[in-house]
Amino acid sequence: MDYQRVIENIHKDFQSKKGCGKVADYIPALAETDPMQYGISVATLEGGQYEVGDACKKFSIQSISKVFTFAMVMGHIGDEIWESVGREPSGNPFNSLVQLEYEHGIPRNPFINAGALVVTDRLMSLYDRPKEALLDFIRSLCGNADIYIDQRVAKSEREHADRNMALAYFMKSFGNIKNDVDTLIDVYCSQCAISMNCNDLSKSFLFLANHGVNPLNGERLLTISQAKRLGAVMLTCGFYDESGDFAFRAGLPGKSGVGGGIVAYIPGNLSIAVWSPGLNPHGNSLLGVETLERFTTDISNSIF
Ligand code: GLU
Repeated sequence: MDYQRVIENIHKDFQSKKGCGKVADYIPALAETDPMQYGISVATLEGGQYEVGDACKKFSIQSISKVFTFAMVMGHIGDEIWESVGREPSGNPFNSLVQLEYEHGIPRNPFINAGALVVTDRLMSLYDRPKEALLDFIRSLCGNADIYIDQRVAKSEREHADRNMALAYFMKSFGNIKNDVDTLIDVYCSQCAISMNCNDLSKSFLFLANHGVNPLNGERLLTISQAKRLGAVMLTCGFYDESGDFAFRAGLPGKSGVGGGIVAYIPGNLSIAVWSPGLNPHGNSLLGVETLERFTTDISNSIF
């Protein structure tokens, strides 16, 4: 398959859609992002890397970071994590408080904010320096040492973290957050503020396409069963309250972030990262979703 030609065609055909959607503006540091940027990168397990457009420009990975923290925690504590977080789609916005009340502080899944906060809390219990451990994990996945936290974005996140603080304190009242909430919010805001580009991201998801083994060094990070479960949760919960529609359109497990990035993969084959900062009303990259739908259509391949 000529992936380079496929993504170049998509990029060309979608030029007129660049800038569509609404750039995330809940923090000033993201609101300044140029909406006209559009990059695509494909990485294959055979070692190929294909890119087009703004695939080398770094952006804020935001909720895509939730996949990395979850993989680290799942790799360490295994099935124990399911005692503290569920695996059902929430059907609610990513930062909703309502469900937590009647579900006794157990978040629906690891990709809504409440669930991601629980996962980051467990990461803090596992590592003395959780931010550094997370950065090292991502660097080893993409083979790039130049992965860092954008401190400006992190600061802006912390200054607007009232709802995440509320979620964390609420869950702490149920005993589902073990660490200090201020420190937890700092780690969480920092993970959201990690900067990566599409090439880094497509490579860093290859371990999922490779059923839990980092293809760069052969290290097994997740069991085959854990990798299957993580993929299933990405398919059902990776796109906020648009997860069903994304599965319907693209047919791939993946994760989006409000920075406009989406990463998805085909098990045993490849991973693909798209970045276009304009979001649709569900908080997913508008052009990113269209690109992935078109990609699986053009290559006649998905998980279905
Ligand atoms: N930093 C964002 C928040 O927790 C993450 C949003 C996202 O990408 O879903 O509010």
